[in-house]
Amino acid sequence: MSAKPLTNLEQLCIHTITTKPWAIEDAVKHFAASGVKGITVWRDALHNRDIKKTGEMIRNEGLNIVSLCRGGFFPAADKQKRNAAIDDNKKAIEEAEALGAPLIVLVCGADPAQSLEDSRTQIQEGIEEIVPVASAAGVKLAIEPLHPMYADTRSAINTLAQANDIAGKIDSPHVGVAVDVYHLWWDPHLKPEIERCGRNNHLFAFHICDWNTPTTDLLLDRGLMGDGCIPVNEIRGWVEATGFNGFYEVEIFSNKYWSMDQQDFLKKIISAYKEKS
Ligand code: ZN
Repeated sequence: MSAKPLTNLEQLCIHTITTKPWAIEDAVKHFAASGVKGITVWRDALHNRDIKKTGEMIRNEGLNIVSLCRGGFFPAADKQKRNAAIDDNKKAIEEAEALGAPLIVLVCGADPAQSLEDSRTQIQEGIEEIVPVASAAGVKLAIEPLHPMYADTRSAINTLAQANDIAGKIDSPHVGVAVDVYHLWWDPHLKPEIERCGRNNHLFAFHICDWNTPTTDLLLDRGLMGDGCIPVNEIRGWVEATGFNGFYEVEIFSNKYWSMDQQDFLKKIISAYKEKS
């Protein structure tokens, strides 16, 4: 069953990293002029800026700030490193509050010096430690499962079932899940796990792009919707069936697209959003 075509841009959000060559001020101006309604801000885009004023600038241009990317990287065999990660996540929460971002996406981390089980335990402990700070700041946290090819260093959470399990164990209205089609499209349990995520009110964010064949770089060769083999429209249908009515966030790291004119790329994003998502 296919989801209805996206005839307007009301739910289109673009990540600052997607148009990385643009400074955030330029991205905001061009997104707003093109009718894009949402922006997810990567922390590096805020470097050397007054975060509060940047948030005001974004809202003044008529864009919704959907989330701040990213917190996480909790596990480490070394206790001092785990403590440093907690401090950095608290800093991310302060930044989100200053910016006016209601959500932080967590790339949870992994340490190849220990088992994935140990890393997952430390992820849960790390999130539990920052939940009170997040909740006091009015900021939610979304656990983003990453494709298993990143299980060595980027995340020990590799399936939506694992993310749903951890969100369930933490059991806080401030902790949920981000579903990214790039990381999860291959999973035979994706549909029932999206349904479960929705039933538990844990579906906080939905990220879209595509999987190129062949993929020439495991990090920096994401495709635009329609370029590859991910059934984005079908997965969007499962997400919508849960009652999700948030933003569809275009998150693409791509040397190919970063090297082209970003105005042309933005036009491509909008047509792929309407025709291939
Ligand atoms: Zn993502």
